[in-house]
Amino acid sequence: MLDACGRDITYLRVSVTDRCDFRCRYCMAEHMRFAPRAEVLGLEELDRLCAVFVRLGVRKLRLTGGEPLVRRGVGDLIRSLGGHLASGALDELTLTTNGANLARHAAALAACGVRRVNVSLDTLRPEVFRSVTRRGELSDVLAGIAAARRAGLTVKINTVVLAGINEDEIADLLGWAHGQGMDLVLIEVMPLGEVDPWGGDRLVPLSLVRARLAARFGLTDIPYTTGGPARWVRVAETGGRLGFIAPRSHDFCRTCNRVRLTCTGRLYLCLGRESAVELAPLLRGSESDEALCGAIRAAVLRKPTGHDFALGTAGAGSAGHPALARHMSVTGG
Ligand code: SAM
Ligand code: SF4
Repeated sequence: MLDACGRDITYLRVSVTDRCDFRCRYCMAEHMRFAPRAEVLGLEELDRLCAVFVRLGVRKLRLTGGEPLVRRGVGDLIRSLGGHLASGALDELTLTTNGANLARHAAALAACGVRRVNVSLDTLRPEVFRSVTRRGELSDVLAGIAAARRAGLTVKINTVVLAGINEDEIADLLGWAHGQGMDLVLIEVMPLGEVDPWGGDRLVPLSLVRARLAARFGLTDIPYTTGGPARWVRVAETGGRLGFIAPRSHDFCRTCNRVRLTCTGRLYLCLGRESAVELAPLLRGSESDEALCGAIRAAVLRKPTGHDFALGTAGAGSAGHPALARHMSVTGG
């Protein structure tokens, strides 16, 4: 599926639920309004939609959320999607998780053909973890990571860098992740959705984080890529890889190969834009996939050339105002 700029859309991220067992302060408000259950697609419907995308040329599927592992029956969906790996139609099936329920699911994920998972972890301090997630327990996530590794999954750690919260802990997280052979990716906090006031914008430009780390570690740019927006360096002292995802200070749209599907069947062509296409009526309106295929192809042709986040620290998204009304938990990052 080529878009109008010639970008080949081969990567679909699917938010299988907008619900979550955490309420991370940068992602959700304490009291969230979730999608009405009647609008949430059934697992068979999601499975069918994913199959259509695979038929149209998607080679990589990432399940996300909300928290994908809190959706009841998600294991059945993953097993079914794993069939596309077995047939060779799909190169990779993976997921992004908060890790709290990973211990229970790790072995089954591996059996379905999942090889890698991203686990979000912003701190190794239990009390900070409780405060950031509002209801998570660090020990559950650490147990989940250990179980995933035992099951043979490659684990990558995603950390959102937060001013005054964990910015002083990045070197420790780096040592911990690399000490176990895990890549670490640092993410700049993005202005998505009304979240409860939390002392204003927590943005720490990753250029600053990198400069601080460079005072302690040897960082060398490497051409490594997972096809995503991260810029990678090798850390001399640990031998490990460190990625930086800096949407607000670095424009990575030129090579974007991804689109996003929500649990209600809404297709977003860009994380940083409001425009979307509703696929649920087409999915539910016909047993044939023809109209669905046409709508997806037409939508991809309209994929925006670039996102709408404030670049730098001024403009929309600063001063506590979200650049977009939609929460990250709707599209899954
Ligand atoms: N619940 C899963 C998790 O936390 O990994 C998957 C969904 S979560 C929305 C996906 C990723 O988005 C996580 O790594 C999370 O840290 C990140 N995220 C959420 N809100 C964000 C924000 N406002 N800015 C930057 N990253 C954000
Ligand atoms: Fe839940 Fe993930 Fe959002 Fe945290 S970042 S509230 S774990 S969806």
